[in-house]
Amino acid sequence: MKQETLALHFGYDYDLQRTISVPIYQNTAYSFESLNQAAARFALEELGNIYSRLTNPTVDILQRRLSKIEGGEFAVCVASGSAALFYALLNCAQAGDCILYSNKIYGGSNTLIAHTLKRFAVNAIEFDIDDLDNLEKLIDKNVKAIFFESLSNPQLAIADIEKITKIAKKHKIITICDNTVATPYLLRPFEYGVDIVIYSLSKYTNGQGSTLGGAIIERKNLNEFIKNNERYLAFNSPDESYHGLIYSELTLPNFSIRIILEWLRNTGASLSANSAWILLQGLETLSLRIKKHSQNALLVAEFLNKNENVLSVNYPALKDNFYNPLFKKYFKDNNASGLLSFEAKSFEAAKRICERLKLFILAANLGDSKSLIIHPASTTHSQLSQNELKKAGISPASLRLSIGIEDADDLIADLAQALKGE
Ligand SMILES: *Cc1c(COP(=O)(O)O)cnc(C)c1O
Repeated sequence: MKQETLALHFGYDYDLQRTISVPIYQNTAYSFESLNQAAARFALEELGNIYSRLTNPTVDILQRRLSKIEGGEFAVCVASGSAALFYALLNCAQAGDCILYSNKIYGGSNTLIAHTLKRFAVNAIEFDIDDLDNLEKLIDKNVKAIFFESLSNPQLAIADIEKITKIAKKHKIITICDNTVATPYLLRPFEYGVDIVIYSLSKYTNGQGSTLGGAIIERKNLNEFIKNNERYLAFNSPDESYHGLIYSELTLPNFSIRIILEWLRNTGASLSANSAWILLQGLETLSLRIKKHSQNALLVAEFLNKNENVLSVNYPALKDNFYNPLFKKYFKDNNASGLLSFEAKSFEAAKRICERLKLFILAANLGDSKSLIIHPASTTHSQLSQNELKKAGISPASLRLSIGIEDADDLIADLAQALKGE
């Protein structure tokens, strides 16, 4: 079945009441039929619900659907995209290990890797996503994960995924790809050899800015890659916190099971059933929305490109864009999502444009059905020095747009009036 069909039907066997909408299982614990069954579940001899920090039937349906649409083996949902990245990295690396990460990623992910994880003695080295010839030189026995974004927020850099996974496979290192902006409808990283795909479901999957959520999806046959892989001792040696369990001996998806049994069980950033239900609604229409976001964004990008008060436009679907060759290689149907940025003539002009817009909402988010704008230099990236801004690919006059699903003419009219006289 195709992704669009799976998004509506997969993973839900109609319950006793034959409800067409997936039920919200708003509960914490589950009753066991007997003490024997309870013991068997705790010992993993019988798989089943114990407590909603670990598993929940509503969350489970969302997990199945996401994994199937992605072409993966198994998905684990968590409370936010940030938690998804944190758990995926913790599953690969511990104190003394090292993570290689792209220089063009979401600000919060950068802070997690470059600062927070370092407090736990997990080292991290940045690599240049636009110059992968240097990536292999950074690899030694301590490197446990390579992390990048397929279409980066906010720089709109596109990763040459196959080049990265080829190097990673040679050294038996797990690759983690954040596919939040592209969504599985524009790009499926597993098709290019990625091991783990993560999402902030808070963005396009939700689509209405109404809940946070995250997902970690593992590829098919990742167990084989992990088994006896010297880089991943935690999977190949007994876990004293779980009756000496050796994850790589399980026939279950090792990476996901350890996310549940180690990180969710012990640190608890679980997705609530209510949020899972909201995300299921969003997922049903994601395929339609991402196309409309992309069509609108291309029209807006073409309009901005011709406007005399705009210095440059950054959108990968534009032919003169630096990433256009990679865009053509990896993205489906000429759709590049709703994220784009442009340069006004000055810092002051950028601020004035922001203030004059009537339809665009000033907000630090993306992927909402409503069009949003942010001026990174005075908000999300205001702490950065000129030099750091430059390194992050953001100039003081950059404006980032998340184009919604309104009528494109209305969006263009709003931008036209805001740009007039700049
Ligand atoms: C927003 C975002 C995140 C963080 O997700 P939250 O759900 O806000 O925690 C991670 N990666 C990317 C690319 C994002 O845009």
